[in-house]
Amino acid sequence: MRVFTREITIQSRRRREVINITDHVEGFVRESGITNGIVLVFLPHATSALFANEDEPRIRRDYENLFERLVPANGDYHHNEIDNNADAHLLTSIFKQFYVLPIVNGELVRGTWQEVFLAEFDGPRSRRVVLVAIGE
Ligand code: ZN
Repeated sequence: MRVFTREITIQSRRRREVINITDHVEGFVRESGITNGIVLVFLPHATSALFANEDEPRIRRDYENLFERLVPANGDYHHNEIDNNADAHLLTSIFKQFYVLPIVNGELVRGTWQEVFLAEFDGPRSRRVVLVAIGE
């Protein structure tokens, strides 16, 4: 069994934004040389998250509307007494901060409409993404 690790950086441009990072994950899998195993995608942050779903301009707007319905940006939050990003922490706690995807025959296994997104909730920022491929 081999383990191949890399950290990449993704720059967000808005406070809340969804960024498709699928090409980065697939490029990493190819570079890893691992043909059968799993890849872990992990965000070492408290105000951004991951999800896997369709990438299309209208549903991108729907994702952002969903975030606002779940946790309004201008709500009344206790954490905002010390830091103005309680909504970002709360949204992050609803979503995942890691994904594990299969690698089969050298390819990342995912659904046709399943792209890997980094959801930024407190941008613009530079976000670290830790990638770990494990397998043969
Ligand atoms: Zn905070």
